[in-house]
Amino acid sequence: MLKLCDVSKKYKEKNALNHVSLTFRTGIYGLLGPNGAGKSTMMNIITGNLLPDNGYVAWKEKDIRTLGADYRSILGYAPQQQGLYDSFTGRRFLSYMAALKGISKKEMPGELARVLACVNMEEAADQAIGAYSGGMKQRLLIAQAIMGSPELIVLDEPTAGLDPKERVRIRENIKALAGGKTILVSTHVVSDIEPIADEIIMIRSGSIIDQGTVAGLMVKYEGCNGLEDIYMRVYEEGGDGTCTC
Ligand code: ADP
Ligand code: MG
Repeated sequence: MLKLCDVSKKYKEKNALNHVSLTFRTGIYGLLGPNGAGKSTMMNIITGNLLPDNGYVAWKEKDIRTLGADYRSILGYAPQQQGLYDSFTGRRFLSYMAALKGISKKEMPGELARVLACVNMEEAADQAIGAYSGGMKQRLLIAQAIMGSPELIVLDEPTAGLDPKERVRIRENIKALAGGKTILVSTHVVSDIEPIADEIIMIRSGSIIDQGTVAGLMVKYEGCNGLEDIYMRVYEEGGDGTCTC
């Protein structure tokens, strides 16, 4: 179980996260919000790449700052911005990441084959990354995030810049990962997560404005016709979350 307890983060005078408290159990969580809402800041704090100004993150009741390498071994992270090595092949990039994660030479071929199959990238594994489409690059990032079968997987906008067909494919890849894990996926595109998320967390200007299952939110925002409609009401009109449908 992952917990954020009263987490805040400021960049100079800008409040990027405002006293956020959340609990994540197993399942797929969709972190939904427009650009600048604080999604990447939250994910960077969850993954231990950024320290909060206030509050803490706990994994199984232990502050992640005390867990060190133990935390890194249960965590898989695909950051929003990542320089992929264009001259590397997909397989070489994964071998490199596997070595950084401490996966042994003996386990490596099997693990690479497993993660490549998970994201349907076996055929492209020996091509240079520079020749990959945006969707293939994203799938490779997801493949490195799931190496070593982490219990906690954090994917920051895995569908950014992809065409609709590629988005569906990524969505299916993420759904296939579920089962006994905590998976957190950020996006500003409702359809990326509506069909796969067990729970939706809506963030705006660094604050959590609502959370729940899609079905639960539909009951709450009575009269709204789907999550897209709720999103439009909550964000586009700058409302306070009260449905005006
Ligand atoms: P999102 O991922 O939802 O687009 P971010 O977490 O990247 O949101 O950003 C939240 C807010 O913090 C934005 O207003 C952004 O401009 C600001 N911000 C993010 N990173 C920095 C930084 N390194 N320095 C200053 N401001 C930042
Ligand atoms: Mg972001």
